[in-house]
Amino acid sequence: MKTRTRVVVIGGGIAGCSTLYHLTQEGWTDVVLVERNELTSGTTWHSAAQVTNFGMNQTMVGLKSHSIALYKALAENPEYPINYHHGDGGIRLANTPQQMQGYRHFASMARGMDVHFEVIDAAECARRHPLISTENLLGGLWDPLDGDIDPAQLCQALAYHARKAGAEIYRNTPVTALTQHKDDTWTVHTEHGDIDCDIVVNACGYRVNEVGAMMGVHHPVASMEHQYFLTEDIPEIVAAGHRMPLIRCPISDYYCRQEKNGLLIGFYEQACKTWGMDGIDPNFVNALCPDDVNRVMDVLEGAFARMPALRETGIRAIVNGPITYTIDGAPLIGPIPGKRNAFCAIGLRAGLGEGGGHGWLLAQMIVHGEACYDTWVIDPRRFTGHANVELTALKAVEDYQNEFRFHFPHEHRPAGRPAKTTPLTPVLAAEGAEFTVVNGWERVDYIKPAPDFHPTLGFTFDETFDLIGAEVHAVQSGVGLAEVNGFNRIEITGADRHAFLDRMICGAVPKRAGRVGLCYLLNHHGRIKGEATVANLPASDRGPDRVWYGSAAASEFHDMDWLQSHLRADEDVHLRSLTNDQTILVLAGPRARDVLSSCARGDWSRAAFAWLSVRECFIGFAPATVLGVSFSGELAYEIHVPNAALYAAYLALRKAGEAHGLTLFGARAVDSMRMEKGFLHWKADLITEFDPFETGLSRFVKLDKGDFIGKQALLDRQGKDPGRKLVTLHVDTTHAPAHPGASLMQGQQVVGTVTSGGWGYRIGKNLAYAFVDPAMAAPGSSMMLDLCGDMVTAQVIAPSPYDPDHARMRG
Ligand SMILES: Cc1cc2nc3c(=O)[nH]c(=O)nc-3n(C[C@H](O)[C@H](O)[C@H](O)COP(=O)(O)OP(=O)(O)OC[C@H]3O[C@@H](n4cnc5c(N)ncnc54)[C@H](O)[C@@H]3O)c2cc1C
Repeated sequence: MKTRTRVVVIGGGIAGCSTLYHLTQEGWTDVVLVERNELTSGTTWHSAAQVTNFGMNQTMVGLKSHSIALYKALAENPEYPINYHHGDGGIRLANTPQQMQGYRHFASMARGMDVHFEVIDAAECARRHPLISTENLLGGLWDPLDGDIDPAQLCQALAYHARKAGAEIYRNTPVTALTQHKDDTWTVHTEHGDIDCDIVVNACGYRVNEVGAMMGVHHPVASMEHQYFLTEDIPEIVAAGHRMPLIRCPISDYYCRQEKNGLLIGFYEQACKTWGMDGIDPNFVNALCPDDVNRVMDVLEGAFARMPALRETGIRAIVNGPITYTIDGAPLIGPIPGKRNAFCAIGLRAGLGEGGGHGWLLAQMIVHGEACYDTWVIDPRRFTGHANVELTALKAVEDYQNEFRFHFPHEHRPAGRPAKTTPLTPVLAAEGAEFTVVNGWERVDYIKPAPDFHPTLGFTFDETFDLIGAEVHAVQSGVGLAEVNGFNRIEITGADRHAFLDRMICGAVPKRAGRVGLCYLLNHHGRIKGEATVANLPASDRGPDRVWYGSAAASEFHDMDWLQSHLRADEDVHLRSLTNDQTILVLAGPRARDVLSSCARGDWSRAAFAWLSVRECFIGFAPATVLGVSFSGELAYEIHVPNAALYAAYLALRKAGEAHGLTLFGARAVDSMRMEKGFLHWKADLITEFDPFETGLSRFVKLDKGDFIGKQALLDRQGKDPGRKLVTLHVDTTHAPAHPGASLMQGQQVVGTVTSGGWGYRIGKNLAYAFVDPAMAAPGSSMMLDLCGDMVTAQVIAPSPYDPDHARMRG
């Protein structure tokens, strides 16, 4: 066994084998995999191993289509051929118009990844799958490349090719402890000796938290028991003369594929069970859980109704095994929060379909610092402190129960809520607030007209349309108040704080006390990593000279990680998170200054407190820090208040607002207003796939300042054509917003992808942002948007169509 290597991958299921293989493909061949038993002896060996292109966003579709291409190439490689039923085809069924609408959206979105789904009606479903009845069926989504693979052969093939490239695999070698050294390298302790390495990867399946504990972290991953049946031969299958397509059914919660001349049917029952919550028997190896047929009887009935031939067919075998879930159903692939040189590929609930892609993206992250797609949807740092064992289990159960029922836009399911609240949450609930969830925080989405108001979930504008319009108009014509909780806030102190930020930020960094600026952070490839509001607070009785670095709520762990990892030992810079201590009250609208002036001492005139200023004050008797910034495009103040004083500040603002007709508004109104202003959202419009020039942020880049992260990459690309350009579009329809991921077409060619969409109430237009082919980026360019199957004209317009000179926000 080696005693020193570059990377140790722990775990020899699909996650570990794929990561090892792809590391060698990226050119890192001095790498090792250690497995406590035999390869695939965790979950992988008994997987139903269906492999589909279907995913909820382009990153998932892209990584799954990589799996399919890779598995096909492996299967066809005569050196180590494997069994792969590639291209049997698969149907995702639907019995509601909303599900069909969703499938049309997913088809539009996947086309941008060169993946081609087809939306078919019920008769066509039955024609392609002769065993199914069309009762209570509207149609489905067809993936022509759907299939299934032999999971053990797949892992052995990946291991074979990785070994051939130089990797080593040590089987029957349990990892017993992990030690991290001062220089951030690791020692992996195993039953057969120690291995020193630069980087460790946790790919331990349902034992993820045993290995997590060895490095002092808890991962938000819980296991569920999951069963499938294998049937006897079915004569109709033999008679069909072709392999049966796969079925995934959100109506009755099962999947089904051909296995020999019978079927394999897997169940997602409502009375589902978590597994291993209180520890896992060390001897649970190549093992299964006891069968429990009773639990799945309801689902079985649904499958019988859809495939009547099953009623005449015997069950040959039952498999019940543990499968891992996270709190949002997507896996955790990437850096382990709070650790250096530690990565994970865990929480895989569809690891055979996705694993080829996970290993591919993870190896790119390890070797290049970033992958070819923005990987936020699978980034382990997207869950912050709230994701404990209980919450993870609650969400895992909910997700399992809804396995094939995708989330509709604005849908937030109830399990595990509320997780993060402020003293105002119950107060705002009493005001009629409907809450959305942002990084676990309950954030006001809009104010409901009645407690039993429940808009229809779907892809068109719904019953909230006029409510949000009314909130926007109240802000535009008077003044509104919104709570923005969980906003990421890092206090940066120390003499070198500005030099540090100059290195991290690609543009001008505001340095004058009392001044605020919007800034962008790039990765080493010169692409967008983060967006931050930088505010310089002068020394006061509340603290020394300091910078407040503010960014999106979801970025809490991500940004702290990025900043901390670039601190130099010899510089005087200290980072402290205030995210959970402070909440923002946004006061916005032309009368905002009047309200502020009547509850906070001091001169708030434009001359005394201009746009992009920061000042400490009291709102009534509540200590507050006010930033003159606006995401709505109206005159606005971000009032940052310690949570202990939040209710007091809120009461003072409400009282001061009475004379000015102050009303409440929520996140949906903010989202509409920011789209009219050309303001972008982190991880919707600001992603690691594009640089600031492609994203329309040239004015935030200063190539003539000193060195900063990403500068060299930008210089290297100077003079080269951009890949895509972010544009604002006017979408010529009133029935639905453009949805993120939707494709923009010119003829049969995809020329762009939507990142955000929504109605602009102040200009009365349906708006979208999209990255498009640079040839299509000039104002006036017209293309067709595939909006859930409807082809709608979308025309490029100038950014910030509402008040383009920003006169209103300057007040
Ligand atoms: C019944 C069932 C049906 C399924 N059907 C499908 C399907 O159709 N399609 C699909 O895509 N997915 C399916 N899945 C899910 C899929 O099988 C899993 O997502 C995948 O196998 C997980 O792989 P993994 O590598 O993460 O975990 P595992 O396969 O469990 O591998 C983890 C490995 O880590 C090793 N390990 C643990 N601790 C240590 C240690 N201390 N030291 C060294 N090694 C250690 C274990 O021994 C194990 O080999 C199914 C799952 C089940 C249960």
